[in-house]
Amino acid sequence: MSSLELRDVTVRYGRRTAVTGFGDTVRSGEWLGLIGPNGAGKSTLLRAVCGLVDHAGEVLVDGVSLAARSRARRAALVAYVPQDPVIPDDMTGEEYVLLGRSPYVGYFGNESRHDRAMVAAVLERLELTGFARRRLGQLSGGERQRLVIARALATEAPILLLDEPTSALDIGHQQQALELVSRLRRDHGLTVVSAMHDLTLAGLYSDRLTLLHEGVVVAAGPSSEVLRPDTLAEFYGVRVTVHHEDDGTIVVIPRRDDFAR
Ligand code: ADP
Repeated sequence: MSSLELRDVTVRYGRRTAVTGFGDTVRSGEWLGLIGPNGAGKSTLLRAVCGLVDHAGEVLVDGVSLAARSRARRAALVAYVPQDPVIPDDMTGEEYVLLGRSPYVGYFGNESRHDRAMVAAVLERLELTGFARRRLGQLSGGERQRLVIARALATEAPILLLDEPTSALDIGHQQQALELVSRLRRDHGLTVVSAMHDLTLAGLYSDRLTLLHEGVVVAAGPSSEVLRPDTLAEFYGVRVTVHHEDDGTIVVIPRRDDFAR
């Protein structure tokens, strides 16, 4: 159980500012959904949190700056599912997911029985046991993406960053992966920050949404306040209907220009 605080985080690539003065506190067990059009700065923000890009401002876990922690400790606190992970084709599914245990076993160390059991459990929960001995180069994009999620979950880090984690998955596997994250959040207080293009899914799983546009927060709050047709039209240039189900689910439906009912 850990909280994540971002204070005035700014990221520049050369002279271009990709994220400007982002601040938020994600409570332990909370799920924050980042949304926004391509290039809004979502990936950059996630990469700043896990120290993959230089940034101004501070990132704190449980009140302690991540920059003050060792690399291994940071990796044990924050697990990250990147949008375009480097996938070693020759590695098996099991070997790849075992990499998630590297903060504990060291780079050349031997994994313990617990590490192997943890990997086996995650593979089973994502119905990936059948891929444990298959080489990654021979798997489909969706199968590989699920193994990347498994690798992050095998870390058992209290904070999970997801960058478009389900973009290559069919609707059933999307639900399976997001439900697993949701369950870990409920049962173990996992703190989640995700970037997702699917606005309905983002609203369904997140406690609150933050809409970024050109690196700046332009809307934030419960999904009912952020997923509004006028807001989405302004920042995505999209025409949608937003449907509210009785149970509170919000469904964002794109409209077709010449579609008469
Ligand atoms: P999003 O994830 O919301 O699509 P990104 O964080 O990937 O947005 O990108 C934010 C901005 O930063 C974009 O204008 C993008 O072109 C730029 N950008 C992203 N990565 C780099 C990089 N490595 N070097 C220079 N500019 C980058």
